[in-house]
Amino acid sequence: MSNGAVWNTRPIADLPPSVLQDRFGRQLNYLRVSVTDRCNLRCVYCMPEDMKFQPLRELMSDQELLTLVRIMAELGVTKIRLTGGEPAVRPNLVELVREINQIPGIQEISMTTNGLLLPQLAEPLARAGLDRVNISIDTLDPAKFKEITRWGNLDAVWAGLEAAEAAGLCPVKINAVVTRGFNDDEAVDLARLSLNHAWQIRFIELMPFGSEAGFAQEAVVSSAETRETIEAELGPLHEIPGYDGHDPARPYRLAGARGSLGFISSVTEPFCAGCNRLRLTADGSLRLCLLRDGELGLLSLLRQGLDVDAIKQQIITSVYDKPWGHGLPGGEIPQLRLMSQIGG
Ligand code: SAM
Repeated sequence: MSNGAVWNTRPIADLPPSVLQDRFGRQLNYLRVSVTDRCNLRCVYCMPEDMKFQPLRELMSDQELLTLVRIMAELGVTKIRLTGGEPAVRPNLVELVREINQIPGIQEISMTTNGLLLPQLAEPLARAGLDRVNISIDTLDPAKFKEITRWGNLDAVWAGLEAAEAAGLCPVKINAVVTRGFNDDEAVDLARLSLNHAWQIRFIELMPFGSEAGFAQEAVVSSAETRETIEAELGPLHEIPGYDGHDPARPYRLAGARGSLGFISSVTEPFCAGCNRLRLTADGSLRLCLLRDGELGLLSLLRQGLDVDAIKQQIITSVYDKPWGHGLPGGEIPQLRLMSQIGG
């Protein structure tokens, strides 16, 4: 191992299969891994135009990332989502996916992406073991897309979506953050996409983070309002039965639609009871809750050469103390990182 960790290939024998459980009995089997803090866009609600990225030496190397994912898998993580920043800009992404796919216990790998690099990457990623993608599309208007992303080209994103479908990265989910004054007037057009496509269109409430929090608080649109706007135009939304309580998006369908709609109401209708998620930031911190700053610096433990079993024990202890939920209603806003530095 180049990182100095004493890697123990023996799975911890004396632990039950899923030891990642918090004090409330929630099982944590889903790890969102930010593979980079870099992005090729600068969405206005996500990061400032002059965003300063962390020096590469502070971020996880391929080997470090794989070591930490392997540790988490041995502790019971079965699902991985690659995110960022923009995960597709990380060099070696295909090889990383291939390696993660070979880690015992990992059953599903998905990725959240802006789609720009999918025309060249979708097929190799699918062959390497990526199962599906969420693609962020906040607007169907090319001029507005450019405005929201500061320079993005919407046609390139559609090309990425086509490439994802051709490569079998399905079902494709589309993430749209609803932002007042930018795209709240487009909820109906976005929802209409589900009529003829087997996609899930997910409407996300804007969440406040650090320096961008003020904007987010002013521009948040509740899922209830978005649902009402859609129903007024397109008719009633039918809840899809069988919702397991873990997916942050509550699923609905318009009558006769091929696809579905999802509403991620982190701010106004939090879904913390069903949370099964942990996050690994690009600089190797295990974040216990998206909207709370508490983290365990796994990469520094690894670089200090801590024994893998000792790292596992620290993870188990931290995860046990995962906060129940976020503190937005009481005015507690995460200050240490922006969404792009956590991995959405
Ligand atoms: N670059 C990739 C992308 O565009 O999908 C992955 C990272 S991005 C941070 C992941 C998701 O978080 C995107 O759908 C993005 O729109 C969403 N997002 C970013 N900032 C957000 C915020 N403040 N509140 C809610 N969602 C946010």
